[in-house]
Order: sequence, then C-alpha cells, then structure tokens
Amino acid sequence: MTETPTAPAVPKRVLVIQAHPDDVEFSSAGTIAKWVNDGANVTYCSITSGDKGSDDPGMTGEHLAAMREIEQQAACDVLGVKELRFLRYKDATLVADLDLRLTLTRVIRQVKPDVLLCMDPSMRWSGQEYINHPDHLAAGEASLAAVFPSARDRMTFPELLAEGLETHKVNEVYLFATSSPDVWVDITDTMEVKLRALNAHASQVRDWDPREMILEWARGTAAANPHKDDSTGEFAESFKYFKLE
Ligand SMILES: [Zn+2]
Repeated sequence: MTETPTAPAVPKRVLVIQAHPDDVEFSSAGTIAKWVNDGANVTYCSITSGDKGSDDPGMTGEHLAAMREIEQQAACDVLGVKELRFLRYKDATLVADLDLRLTLTRVIRQVKPDVLLCMDPSMRWSGQEYINHPDHLAAGEASLAAVFPSARDRMTFPELLAEGLETHKVNEVYLFATSSPDVWVDITDTMEVKLRALNAHASQVRDWDPREMILEWARGTAAANPHKDDSTGEFAESFKYFKLE
C-alpha cells in the first residue's frame, strides 16, 4: 500500500460537490480556505439546497431552500470560494441514478477541475451513534462515477459533446466525511475561518455554537495522523485520496 503522508501540492482549480449546504463546512472548509489562500480557484456545487433540513412546523421547503442558498453563499464568501452552483435536486430523496451522473459529468466538463472533492460513498455508518445520510452516499457515488469514467470518456453521454462539452480528466480526488483517510491537511491556520463559514449556516446551527465540537474533531483528526511529528499542527482535516493515472 502506498501511503501519502502529507497533502499533495496546492491545486489550481478545485470542484467541490456536496449533497447539502453545510456538508463541506463541517468536513473540509479548513482545507478549502487554505487552498484559496494559496491561490486555488474553487467552485462549489451543491446538489440539493437542503429543503428538508428543519423540524419547524411553520417552515416550507421552498423558504428553507432559499434561506440555505443564501447561507451557503455567505459561507463561500467567508472562504473566498469564487463560484457556487445549486443543482436543486430534492433533499432527502437523492439517488445516484444516471440522471444525476449525467448532470455531475456536465458540471465537471464545464468547470474542468484538476482536483475534485466529494463525499465518501462507502461510509454507511460510523461507530454506534451515526448512520450516514443516504443523500451523502448518493452524492459521493454519483460524483465518483462522473469522474470515472463519464467525464473522461468520449462515448459516454454523447449529448454532452453535442453541447460542446469536451471530455475532461480529473487528476486527483479527495473524499471527505470518510472512515478510511490516508491524507491529512493541517488546518491550524484556517480553523477560525472554518468556524466563521460554519456559523454562516444560521438555520442549521441556530443557537448551538459548534465551536467546541469542531475543535475537538479537528484536534482528534490531527492526533490520528499516523505520520505526525513535531511540526504537525494542532488541527487537521483528513481525506481518502486518489491520484488518477
Ligand atoms: Zn448533509
């Protein structure tokens, strides 16, 4: 097995695909902020707008989705993310079907990222207290299938060629919200930016301050890095990493 002890070079163009507004802020915003600081051009793609993420009986899905799109834009502004796209699939019923794969293939061919971040489709649960959201699995599965082989291959989805979208090969993939990490990114310098971006999701955090939980997670992630040494920072995010040939 090849281990990748530290994060690879800073990417130039990054596409991040999430199921819901706030998924990336919880898991990867420190890394995004770090890459943006180092000159990366980042595009976010949110498959749903999170229209089921409330237990307020007076809330409508339409209103909630509109609020959450504004919150996600605010989080992206904090992080310095250049572009934010919403695909407006319905929350909580996402399926990794060919329609979603085609749509994500289109986005990849338009954005032409060298690095793609998406959710780990293999993490069905974690420990004894967390069942992963099925939308996260569907988002991860469809994203990976779009990277390989659909975005790369001419004869898959010929309608995209007819739209003028040439094939595109993604070089590197980072899976977030993963239980099998093999790359750690030091986010000590961007931890406060991550927390500010997370707090932009006001409808989700409400009167709860996620600060202590996030600090504890990031500290635990840094401590779990098998390659840590004296220069390793206090906080980290971790990913399952692929460098595609
Ligand atoms: Zn989510």
